[in-house]
Amino acid sequence: MSAILGAREIASRVQVGGVAQDHYLGEALERARVVEAGELPLHAFLALGPDTGTGEASSLSGIDGSDGTATRGGASVSLAGVPVAVKDNLCTLGLPTTCASRILDGYVSPFEATVVRRLKRAGGLVLGKTNMDEFAMGSSTENSGFGPTRNPRDRSRVPGGSSGGSAAAVAAGVVPCALGSDTGGSVRQPASFCGIVGIKPTYGRVSRYGLVAFASSLDQVGALGATVDDAALLLHAIAGYDPRDATSAPRDVPDWTRAEEATVEGLRIGVPREYFTDALDPQVKRVCLDALDRLRDGGARVEEVSLPHTRYAVPTYYVLAPAEASSNLARYDGVRYGFRFDGADSARAVYEESRTRGFGKEVVRRIMLGTFALSAGYYDAYYGRAQKVRTLIAQDFHRVWDDGVDLLFTPTAPTPAFPIGERTEDPMAMYLSDIFTVTANLAGIPGISLPIGAVDNLPVGGQLLAPMWEEARMIGAARALESLLAGGEGGR
Ligand code: GLN
Repeated sequence: MSAILGAREIASRVQVGGVAQDHYLGEALERARVVEAGELPLHAFLALGPDTGTGEASSLSGIDGSDGTATRGGASVSLAGVPVAVKDNLCTLGLPTTCASRILDGYVSPFEATVVRRLKRAGGLVLGKTNMDEFAMGSSTENSGFGPTRNPRDRSRVPGGSSGGSAAAVAAGVVPCALGSDTGGSVRQPASFCGIVGIKPTYGRVSRYGLVAFASSLDQVGALGATVDDAALLLHAIAGYDPRDATSAPRDVPDWTRAEEATVEGLRIGVPREYFTDALDPQVKRVCLDALDRLRDGGARVEEVSLPHTRYAVPTYYVLAPAEASSNLARYDGVRYGFRFDGADSARAVYEESRTRGFGKEVVRRIMLGTFALSAGYYDAYYGRAQKVRTLIAQDFHRVWDDGVDLLFTPTAPTPAFPIGERTEDPMAMYLSDIFTVTANLAGIPGISLPIGAVDNLPVGGQLLAPMWEEARMIGAARALESLLAGGEGGR
C-alpha cells in the first residue's frame, strides 16, 4: 500500500485524473485496519465508516443556501474523494457519536454537524469516528471510556488529547486530515505530540452546530493535517457563518488555501517571555530557538514581548471550563440519550445511577469542580473572578497586536509526548500540559501547531498565534516556516 497522498493531490486526481471517487477511501480503510490490528493497536478509531448517512445531508437548504455562500469569500475548496477522520464529539448520521463516553454508548444522532455536512459538500468522505478523552476532557486520550489511543511515533506514549484519535490517524498515515475540537488545546497539543499540524480557528469562525458542547464559550472545531496545506484546506471547507450557531460570525472567509504567497518576510513575530520559563523542557526550548532562527532566515523580525497574565491562564481555564461543562452535561440524565441504568426503583435513582455509572472519573471531577464554582456562596469568588481574569488575558494579546506585532511564536506544549500512565493519577500534572494552549481559547484567537523538530525522536510542535480573524496571515507564516525548516526559502 502506498503512502497516503496530500488532500490537494487526492482531490486533483479524483477531479481531473479520473480516479474513482472512493478509491482513496478504500485505501484508507485498509490502512486503518492495519494500524488497529496487532499486539499494540493504535485504537485511534471508535467506529470505522464510511459514514453513509444521508437524509439531512442531502438537503442544502438554509445553511448552505445563499447566505452561506455569500460569506465564504469566493474560494471554494475541493476535497473530492479525500478520506477524513472525524472526532467522536461531532454528530454524524450514519455512525454513532459517543464522545468516548459510556453514557452515550451506541447513541446515533438524528442530525449532522454543520462541519461534517460541509466537508461532504466539498467532496470529502468520512472514514470513521476517532477516539478522544471522554467529552474532550483531557490531554492524553487516556480518559476515553473505551480505552486509550497510542502515539504512532512511539506506541508506549500518549498521542496527546483530547483529539488524540484524530491526531494518531493522521500521524499514522491513515488519512491526510481529520477534524478535532479545541477547547483548551485539544487540536494543537495532540498535533504537537504526534508530529503533525493542528489549527484552532478564531472563536466564531467555524460552526459549533452538532459539536457536542463541553465549554461553549471556549469550544471550536479545528483541523488536523499531515502538512499545513492539508489542515488549511480542510479548515477552509468547514469555515464560515452558520445561522444554526448563534456564536458563528457572519464574516467572509479569506482564501488561505493558496500556497504561493506564503512568507514571513517583514512580519514582526513576538516571543512571549512568559512561555519560556522553567516549566518548559530545556530541550524543547532549544528546538523552539532553532525555529526562531529559521523565521529570521525567512526575513521575519523576531522580538521579545510580555503577556503578564499568562500564569493565571491554567487556573482561569480550570474554573471556567468545568463550570460550563457542569451545566452542559446536565442533559445526560439516563433518560434522553444513550446509557440508562435499568435496576433503579425511582426516577431519582435512574438519574443518579446512570450518571454515576455512565461518566468516567475525570468527567465526574469536572462536574463537581464546576458545580462548586457556580454554587451560591462561591460564584463571585470563583466564576466571577475567573471571568475578569479572562478579560485581562485577552487584553494582554490586544496590547501586543496594538503595538504592531503580527504574530506570536511559542512552544505548543512544555514537553514531548509522555508515557502512557505517567500522569493519570496526577490531574494537576495533566492540566499543566495545557499551559501554552489555553490562552488562545480564553482570548478567542486562532492558533496553529506545526512540527518544528524532535527531542529523542519525539516530535516537538511550535505554535503561531494571530489576532482574531487573521487565520490567513497565520497559515501563510506556518507554510513559510514549514518550508524553511525543510531547507527551503520560505517564500523569499
Ligand atoms: N486538556 C484540556 C482539558 O482537559 C483541553 C481539552 C480540550 O481542548 N478539549 O480541558
